[in-house]
Amino acid sequence: MADNQKEYYLGVDLGGTKILTGVFDTKFDLKGTSKLSTKAGRGVDAVIERIARGVKEAVDECDLSLSQVRGVGIGAPGAVDTETGKVIFAPNLPGWKDVPLKKELEKLLDVPVFLGNDCNVCTLGVFDQEFKAKPKHLVGIFIGTGIGGGLVVNGDLYCGHNLTAGEIGHMVIEVNGPKCGCGNRGCLEALASRTAIFRKIESAVKDGQETLLTDMLGKDLKDMRSGDLRKAIRRGDKFVAKVIEEAAEFAGIGVANLINILNPEIVVVGGGVIEALQDEMMPTLVKTAKDHVMSGTMSGIEIKASKLGDNAGITGAAVLARRGTA
Ligand SMILES: [Zn+2]
Repeated sequence: MADNQKEYYLGVDLGGTKILTGVFDTKFDLKGTSKLSTKAGRGVDAVIERIARGVKEAVDECDLSLSQVRGVGIGAPGAVDTETGKVIFAPNLPGWKDVPLKKELEKLLDVPVFLGNDCNVCTLGVFDQEFKAKPKHLVGIFIGTGIGGGLVVNGDLYCGHNLTAGEIGHMVIEVNGPKCGCGNRGCLEALASRTAIFRKIESAVKDGQETLLTDMLGKDLKDMRSGDLRKAIRRGDKFVAKVIEEAAEFAGIGVANLINILNPEIVVVGGGVIEALQDEMMPTLVKTAKDHVMSGTMSGIEIKASKLGDNAGITGAAVLARRGTA
C-alpha cells in the first residue's frame, strides 16, 4: 500500500496538567505520541492552540501529514456535549464554560474532531481495544486524583438524558461521610480517590500517627505519590495498608452497586491509583463487591484491573475518532 493511502486516527487526552496525543494506524498500533503541558492558566484559546500543536507534533513525529489523518478524538475532563462538540464545564480548566472545542480545532486542523468526557473515553478505549468490543455490557471505573467512569450498554457508550451518565465517583457510599468536591458528602470520590487517601494519611500524621512515609518523604509528606504508598506497605507499614484496604472496600461497595443496577459482563478498574496499588487493592475490592451484590447476580461477571494504563485515554479518543468517521 502506498503511503498516501494510509489512514490514521489521533487520540488526545486533555488533562488539567498535560496534553497527551497518540497516533494510531487502522490496526490500532500506536505509531507515536506527543506530550505537552496544558498551561491551563493561560486561558482557553491558548490551551486550544496547544492541543492543535500537540496533534501536529505527534503527526510530524511519525513522518506523516495531517492529510493522512481521518479523525481526531479528544477526551476532555468535565461535562461535554458530545453532539455539538462543546465542553460545557471543566473544573480543572479555568475559564472553560461552553467552549466549542470541536469547531475551533476543526478550524485549526482541517480534520474532523470528536469530543467525549475523559472517563467515558477511557472506558471506550478499554472496551474496544483491551476487550476487542466483545462484551455487550461493560462498566469502567478510573481511580486517580478523582474517580470517574463510563458505561457501555449494548456495545455503545451510554450517556444519559443530559449526557452526564457514568459519574461513578459521585455515587454516595457513606451518608454524612467526608465532603466531596461536588458539594455532597460521602461520595465514592471523597472516600477512595488519591485525593481522599492522601488527605486521610496527612490528617492522621498531623494527629501523631507514625508511618514509614514520614521517614521516606519528610514530616510534611510533600511530593507523596501513589507508588510511595505501595513501597510503605511492602515494607510493612500497617497504617498505610489499612488506609488502602478501606479505600478498596469503599470502591468494592461502589462496584457492588453498579453490578446490582447494570449487571454488566465486565467491570474494569483503572487509573493511576490502581496502576500503582493493583496487588494491594484488587483482592479486597473484588471480595467486598462479591460480599455486597444481591445473591445470585454475580454469576459469570468479571472484575478486572485494566492493562491499558496511561494509554487508555489516547486509545479511547482514537476509537471515538474511528467510530465518528466510520
Ligand atoms: Zn461528589
